[in-house]
Amino acid sequence: MVAYLGGNTISLESIIFAQKTNFALWVLDCMPFIFAFWGQYVSSIMAFQAGAIIVDQTADLRAQTTVLEEKASHEATHDSLTDLPNRILFHDRLQQAISAAQRHQHKLAVMIIDLDNFKEINDTLGHFNGDILLKQVGTRLHGTIRDLDSVARLGGDEFAILLPKIAGGTDATMVAKKLSQALTPSFQISGLNLDVHASIGIAIFPGDGNDRDTLMQRAEVAMYAAKKETSEYLFYSRKLDQYSPKRLTLMAELRQAIEQQELLVYYQPKVEIKTGKVIEVEALVRWLHPEHGLLLPDEFIPMAERTGLIKPLTSLIVDHSLKQISSWNREGYEIGVAINISAGVLLDPQFPDSLIGLLAGYRVNPASIVLEITETTIMADQERAMETLLRLKDVGLRISLDDFGTGYSSLAYLKHLPVYELKIDKSFVMKMDHNKDDAVIVKIIIQLGHHLGLKITAEGVESDTIYQQLEQLHCDIAQGFLISKPLPAEDLIAHLKNSRWIMT
Ligand code: C2E
Ligand code: CA
Ligand code: CA
Repeated sequence: MVAYLGGNTISLESIIFAQKTNFALWVLDCMPFIFAFWGQYVSSIMAFQAGAIIVDQTADLRAQTTVLEEKASHEATHDSLTDLPNRILFHDRLQQAISAAQRHQHKLAVMIIDLDNFKEINDTLGHFNGDILLKQVGTRLHGTIRDLDSVARLGGDEFAILLPKIAGGTDATMVAKKLSQALTPSFQISGLNLDVHASIGIAIFPGDGNDRDTLMQRAEVAMYAAKKETSEYLFYSRKLDQYSPKRLTLMAELRQAIEQQELLVYYQPKVEIKTGKVIEVEALVRWLHPEHGLLLPDEFIPMAERTGLIKPLTSLIVDHSLKQISSWNREGYEIGVAINISAGVLLDPQFPDSLIGLLAGYRVNPASIVLEITETTIMADQERAMETLLRLKDVGLRISLDDFGTGYSSLAYLKHLPVYELKIDKSFVMKMDHNKDDAVIVKIIIQLGHHLGLKITAEGVESDTIYQQLEQLHCDIAQGFLISKPLPAEDLIAHLKNSRWIMT
């Protein structure tokens, strides 16, 4: 257009002419460069500002991350209940202490401390109070050791102490005594004075082991031995290896054994004393371990209770028992089965329904099932236990109070429990033929139970003399080696067929 106005025809010359003489065109021509420059300028300022913002925020974030990281690392290395170092941090410190001891050629000690009656306290007073106790124990242990030493909570009621530099065993003895004394005064929990005892196992580097895991394991072996021998503390020695738990690896194996159904159920008869008739059998679990042979429940039930494995274990026992009973019923034997139920199972909200479902599935009459529970099981959570027991009673199951006489039963409370039977603990029955006190206790329990309208079973009946004594005291039911040891189902029938006891 400009070219046209300047020279009337559009030609290369007229364009050049227009370009040379027209200022506006110069401005227009420069525009892209101006915009480009402005754009660059503005964007570089923006980039700079953005950069500054990012730098600021990053610094902020970094500060926050450090706090979080510190918190996470504290949580990862400390026990949340007691705030003491946990197993991970303890292992780490022990590892460093071993390296230092090797370099400077000195000794160190590892101690493992386990409370003796913690489970009972936890079951009786509840987890909340159990936790309070653990905190107080942690504080007392921590207050007893030197700054240089460490105390950690390994888990449950197990604590560990590291003395990274000692002159010899006597130093460790002194500390063990101090720790034990620190735990001696009663603990005040929920207005109660509780006495807590601990067992301490000690392993010394380098005598008892050169590496972390060996030292930990040997201190643990010494702790188990101290517990068995009821000593306050014990130093590891080779001869203690007999206590060396199997237990340490047993737990993982138990889980597997349950999954692969390697547990067996043995049955022990309960006989009506008046008639000599077998009315029930008690299901008692056994574990046929590939290496250790036949293991008795005392070797693995407490562990199963601590770890929650008791639930699948009990399901397995219930399943086997119901199958067995329905098969015996089909063969014409009219017997019931008694099953031991731990607190962890009774207080499981799903337990009643799953049991009722199984009974229907196997077409077993609920009246032929007895659930044996202990007083501690009820005390663990009285309200919930009561609710569950009433529900089970409503569908026709019978409840038996096991190990009676060993707990802290309030007799007044007994009246309200929906139980139909008391089982006198075998520790009273076994010696009642020569121990007068035991005989009196058995007699009183029988009278008391009868007054409350309960059946009485005496367990641990090993001789005819005791059987007759019980008969004179009008005890209802007897169970014990006199009649039969616990046996696999087929062996039991064979044994009873050749005995004076009557099967119907
Ligand atoms: P418990 O319920 O008090 O079972 C009775 C124990 O006394 C059994 O030991 C039995 O073999 C033993 N016994 C029976 N008669 C006599 C006798 O005349 N003399 C002597 N000295 N002992 C006798 P066992 O089978 O070793 O069971 C020990 C405990 O393990 C049981 O004590 C019970 O508390 C627990 N338990 C066994 N099976 C199970 C189970 O399936 N679940 C649960 N939760 N606990 C179980
Ligand atoms: Ca029992
Ligand atoms: Ca018992």
